[in-house]
Amino acid sequence: MITAKTTLNLLKTHFGYSSFRPQQESIINDILSGKDVMTIMPTGGGKSICFQLPALALSGTTIVISPLIALMKDQVDSLLANGISASYYNSSQESYIQNETLKKLQAGELKLLYVAPESLQNLIPHFASIKISLIAVDEAHCISSWGHDFRPAYTKLGHLKKQFPNTSIAAFTATADSATQQDIVTQLNIPEAEVHLSSFDRKNLYLEVRPGNNRIDQILKYLDSRPDESGIIYCLSRKSTEKLASKLNSNGFKAKAYHAGLSADERSRIQEDFINDRTPIIAATIAFGMGIDKSNVRWVIHYNLPKNIEGYYQEIGRGGRDGLPADNLLFYSYADVVMLRKFAKGSSNEEYQIAKLERMQQFAEALSCRRIALLNYFGEHFTENCENCDICTSPPNYFDGTVLTKKVCSAVSRLDEQEATGMVIDVLRGAQNAQVLEKGYQNIKTYGTVKDTSWVDLQQYVIQMINQGILEIRFHENGRLVLTPLANKVLFKDKKVQLAILPKLEDKIEEKV
Ligand code: ADP
Ligand code: ZN
Repeated sequence: MITAKTTLNLLKTHFGYSSFRPQQESIINDILSGKDVMTIMPTGGGKSICFQLPALALSGTTIVISPLIALMKDQVDSLLANGISASYYNSSQESYIQNETLKKLQAGELKLLYVAPESLQNLIPHFASIKISLIAVDEAHCISSWGHDFRPAYTKLGHLKKQFPNTSIAAFTATADSATQQDIVTQLNIPEAEVHLSSFDRKNLYLEVRPGNNRIDQILKYLDSRPDESGIIYCLSRKSTEKLASKLNSNGFKAKAYHAGLSADERSRIQEDFINDRTPIIAATIAFGMGIDKSNVRWVIHYNLPKNIEGYYQEIGRGGRDGLPADNLLFYSYADVVMLRKFAKGSSNEEYQIAKLERMQQFAEALSCRRIALLNYFGEHFTENCENCDICTSPPNYFDGTVLTKKVCSAVSRLDEQEATGMVIDVLRGAQNAQVLEKGYQNIKTYGTVKDTSWVDLQQYVIQMINQGILEIRFHENGRLVLTPLANKVLFKDKKVQLAILPKLEDKIEEKV
């Protein structure tokens, strides 16, 4: 019988920590009692211990499916450093190394074995004669073909539950989009899994968005006020990482470029230099960062708009892992939107990608607390302003938008939450177009009740309601707009809504010049 005292002891003796982080203990307890689990925890939240500790507590070997070779190696190295017998197995290794690992596995000498999903099928015959204590699936969102990290080999993992019906399967991801969560549970055949959803709030991260003009000058100024601090600048293209790195170097900042076009050796050298503070600044594509455990990253800049909020969140999450303040700056330019739209064109899930990009844009254009907008996206309905984002620290002017919000919510409700933003706006503005008339929406009670607001302005207000977590877009279901619990408070419990006064069109044009 494994008691709370035992798990805490294991935490202290093997990992050197005095207490569990939120969720870790209940996840571990579920695993130890033989349940399947599905954990959604932000990057840096402490997922590894949730399967490493049970691996120690249970008899047998824990198999960890992990998508990245670099990540496996780091984890195994740190386990070995903690005196835990662990190894990894993937196709990049020479066969004599693989054979050594297999020997140890057969002899029951390994507490943990990290395996690339592509190598798993080769290994399964070797599992027959040993005891598998737990199967952990790390970065489990790679199973979902919706996501950008899709790995076809992950889709074969569904067999595991059939082959090892009595072994717990524990899936871990930092991607919380609810449709993806569902996909993971279904594909892994673990419908009864206990779901653990951690808070995605990282209070120490300051969130800021600026227009993307004169980015280089802005960055140089930004870095001037942050001497010797470590940070990452994410760029969309390999070329811009190199251009930016050389620009920074010629201005006296130590920076290196990192992207998938470099050799593996070069990449790991750059990574090491960053981790050990020899190179404080990295200009990188999104290839950089997965699995990099550096606690003192003090700022993250997005030179370009990320293609979705998941990506943005993952990347800013590399800052401030030590819990101390870290700054995030996102440059927003329409040119980026155009480019990202082009990238999405022609892909199998184009519409979905564009919808996610639009949501990213809405975040960048937010006129209310950015943290609320971000967390709402992940299904956490916060309502308190964070006071740690650019909007909270210098808010726009607001008006009492309760009546307008009620009208919009009521239209969404009367459309049975089946229509996307465009149609909701058309109905509210009393549009006479064919789609509206064919569906008979002119008979809906809220039809035409917001006639006096322009289409574009009303769209902006609806975006504000989405960002405030009053409405939500269902990406997987044609982008239909639905009400959240907060909407019900507005409709029925007299909850007041503040909306930002929109800048006049002339002012906007002025800004652009
Ligand atoms: P994730 O996989 O969720 O991104 P990690 O497992 O890499 O996160 O953990 C992030 C950091 O937090 C690591 O440096 C880890 O050692 C540390 N950590 C994990 N659990 C605890 C704990 N209970 N107490 C203190 N630090 C912890
Ligand atoms: Zn805020």
